[in-house]
Amino acid sequence: MNMHDQIEEAEVSILHTYNRFPVVFERGEGVYLYDTEGKRYLDFAAGIAVNALGYHYPGYDEALKAQIDKMLHTSNLYYNIPIVDAGNKLVLASRMNKVFFTNSGTEAVEGAIKAAKKYAYMKTGRAGHEIIAMKNSFHGRSIGALSVTGTDHYREPFEPLMGGVRFAEFNNLESVEALVNENTCAIICETIQGEGGIHPATRDFLRGLRRLCNEKDILLILDEIQCGMGRTGYYFAWQAYGVQPDIMTTAKALGCGVPVGAFVLNKKAASASLVPGDHGTTYGGNPFVCAAVNKVFEIYERDMILPHVQELTPYLEERLDELVDKHSSVAERRGSGFMQGLVITGKPVSQVINKALEKGLLVISAGTDVLRLVPPLVISRAQVDEMIHILDQCL
Ligand SMILES: *Cc1c(COP(=O)(O)O)cnc(C)c1O
Repeated sequence: MNMHDQIEEAEVSILHTYNRFPVVFERGEGVYLYDTEGKRYLDFAAGIAVNALGYHYPGYDEALKAQIDKMLHTSNLYYNIPIVDAGNKLVLASRMNKVFFTNSGTEAVEGAIKAAKKYAYMKTGRAGHEIIAMKNSFHGRSIGALSVTGTDHYREPFEPLMGGVRFAEFNNLESVEALVNENTCAIICETIQGEGGIHPATRDFLRGLRRLCNEKDILLILDEIQCGMGRTGYYFAWQAYGVQPDIMTTAKALGCGVPVGAFVLNKKAASASLVPGDHGTTYGGNPFVCAAVNKVFEIYERDMILPHVQELTPYLEERLDELVDKHSSVAERRGSGFMQGLVITGKPVSQVINKALEKGLLVISAGTDVLRLVPPLVISRAQVDEMIHILDQCL
C-alpha cells in the first residue's frame, strides 16, 4: 500500500475531526520523522510540543520497557513507586506542594477548575463561584476546559457550557479587574498563549494578576501545558516572571510521548480544596506513564536540557529575525525559548506550512496567521540552520 492508499483507508474508520496533513509517519529518530515511503522530515512540531526529547532519546525507551516488564497499571486505590518519584520530581521542579496526575491536558484543566471551586466552597461555605478566563485562550476540549477557552468557534456548537465564566483581555489587567466580583474564585490563563498565536504574557500583566489574586484571595491558575516543561528554558514559563501560581496545569512534554498531565497546587490550594471523594481517575498517573515522567526529569537534569534551551535560544531568535527582515510575508516574530511564532501576511500560513512539509520540514500553525515552531528541546545549532534554510525557501 502506498501512502495515498493508507490515507484513504484511515478515513474509512477514523472520525474526521482533523484535516490531517497528507503524510503517514512510521518512525522517528532523533529529531527526524520518516514516513511510510521512507522520506525524512526535520520535526519542528514535536507532536505539538510533546516530544521534547525527540525520538528514542538515550535511556528513555529502556525506562519504559523496564516498567512494562514490572507492571503497567494498578489503579489509584494502591500506592506504587513510580508515582511517588514522579510526584516528588514535579514538586521539586515547580517548587509547589502537591500533584494530581491526569491522562491529558484538558483533564488537568478540569482538575484545576474543580480544585479552585472547592477552595472557594470551603472558604465561604457555599457554591456558585465564578472564574475569569482570557479571550483568545486555549485550555482543552472537554466541557469544563472548553468553558474557559476564549475562542468562539471552538465553543459555539456546544453551548450552553459550564456557567460562571467571564472573559477578559489577555495582557490587559484593567479588563480583568473590571470582572472581579465577590463570587470570583479563580483567574485562569496561559503564561504564553499557544493555540491563540504565541502571545507571551507581559511581566506587568502576570505580576498584576498575582497582586489582584492576593488582595482578593482568588486562586491564580497558570496553564503551562504547552509552554512548560523546559520549552522557554525554565521548567515552567512563570519561573521567569517572578510570579507563582496557586495551581498550575502541565501535560504535553511532561511524559515526552506517553499520555500524562497533572495539576499542581501550592500549599494554600492543596491544604483547603480537594479531599477523598472529590476527584479521581482510573488511569491517571499509572506506573507506566510515571516511569516516563521520572525518566524525563532524570534526563533533563543529567543532560542539562534547560541550559541547552537557554543557550541556543538567542541563535534561534536571531536566525528567525533574519527571516522577518528578509521576507515581506513575515511581519513579526513572537515567543520565548523554543516556543516561537512567525506572523505570516499576504498569503495563507497553511501555504507555507504545506510547502515546508513537501521540503521535509514539519511546522504547524497557531491562531489564524502564525507559523508555530515548537521543536524538540534537543535540537542542535545545525538543525536550526537546516530549518531556516528550508523555511527561507518556502517563504
Ligand atoms: C494542548 C493544550 C491543552 C489541552 O491538552 P490536551 O492534552 O490536548 O487535552 C490545554 N491547554 C493548553 C495551553 C494546551 O496547549
